[in-house]
Amino acid sequence: MMNVYNSLTRRVEELKPLEGNEIRLYTCGPTVYNFAHIGNFRAYAFEDILRRVIQFNGMKIRQVMNLTDVDDKTIRGANAAGVALTDYTKTYKDAFFADLKKLNIQPAEVYPAATDHIPEMIALVQKLMDKGVAYQSEDGSVYFKVREFPGYGKLAHIDFDNQRTGLRCAADEYDKENVGDFALWKAWEESDGPVGWDSPWGRGRPGWHIECSAMSMKYLGETFDLHTGGIDNLFPHHENEIAQAEAATGKEFVRTWMHCAHLRVNGEKMSKSAGNFFTLRDLLEKGYTGREIRYVLINAHYRTGLNFAFTALEDARKALDKIDRCVAQATDGEAPEWATKHLQDFADAVNDDLNLPRAFAALFELVRDANGKGAAGTLGVFKRMDEVLGVIFFENEKKEEAIPAEVKALLDARAEARKSKNWAESDRLRDEIAALGWTVKDSRDGQSLEKKG
Ligand code: AMP
Ligand code: ZN
Repeated sequence: MMNVYNSLTRRVEELKPLEGNEIRLYTCGPTVYNFAHIGNFRAYAFEDILRRVIQFNGMKIRQVMNLTDVDDKTIRGANAAGVALTDYTKTYKDAFFADLKKLNIQPAEVYPAATDHIPEMIALVQKLMDKGVAYQSEDGSVYFKVREFPGYGKLAHIDFDNQRTGLRCAADEYDKENVGDFALWKAWEESDGPVGWDSPWGRGRPGWHIECSAMSMKYLGETFDLHTGGIDNLFPHHENEIAQAEAATGKEFVRTWMHCAHLRVNGEKMSKSAGNFFTLRDLLEKGYTGREIRYVLINAHYRTGLNFAFTALEDARKALDKIDRCVAQATDGEAPEWATKHLQDFADAVNDDLNLPRAFAALFELVRDANGKGAAGTLGVFKRMDEVLGVIFFENEKKEEAIPAEVKALLDARAEARKSKNWAESDRLRDEIAALGWTVKDSRDGQSLEKKG
């Protein structure tokens, strides 16, 4: 039984599919105006753990992650660079998918882009107009009338008595103190340049919130299981998504909402605007691997703040090395009872609101016992745990990813030397590789490498 904390009810509840055996999950994706930073990847790594735990429990998953490729920021970026919006965002879409791969994040089933769904958004705004919960203002933009939707504020638990009333907010992001009617459709402005679509309310573009309501319902239905994002998405973005969807359909929009806490730097949220961010590329260039970065991102409970520090990456390297050494000894076969017990603890931990710190503790108990009592028969347990974690190396081909290019080149040269029976050259290359911190072993299957401890 998989339990998760639902931000809507503020309780831990069992997660089970509304229909059949499939969980339908919508995850708010990147705004593709720049390279995603590792704070963003904390959110995507959390969602990856979530989808893996769902599958670990034998349920199927249908995940939709949107790509916000039109909003205030993308338009500003494209126009400043003097390129078409689609060309501008393509760079960052491509980079995003490459980064996900590096972090071993499983792909979602659908990645809809906002600009491919403008008709769906217009249709949804029209529906809200027809129901009388939206209106066009003097400036041509269309707004959602929050006072007309009785459920407004149920996710963020907003106390309306302490609110000023009658405000209107055109910006995509604002805080709880400034609750107001929010933009569904933004009238074209000079600064939008060539970006714009025709609509019943004139030329313009969709607001950010309507993108997610329209695309989630298109791919997952009017009511679906699960919706997630970083905690900063809870208000106003998710609150507004609920208002738009439920006002339009009269049905419950989403059963369970989950939000991850922020990745911080020196106590502050890592963000582009604060300028205190690292992209994944920054860290890869410093020599850290995707797997080490993944390890750090998933190793804290998703609902607690995680402070980013380079020491954590160093610790991750050591921890992974310890795991690798043990797994290298592990064999197939029937698992010893103690290993099965650690697996049970692991399963209980992930099913207890994705308690990854406890799950890692179970993994390290397994490592400790396997080192002490012998690793025979433990391979299956490691593999089962890694269905969730996605950080353990099993095959040689995967191992090669972590070998520095320089060492790899020497290794290839050595293979050549051995083929032509040039043993002196082979030995010289072995020493050169050793000087870089790697031990070469020769067997009937060829050479293999081990990092010197
Ligand atoms: P954005 O591209 O700003 O729309 O953000 C994409 C996702 O990253 C959203 O789910 C955000 O909530 C999340 N996010 C942004 N900054 C952080 C952070 N510092 N820590 C964790 N998640 C974040
Ligand atoms: Zn969204």
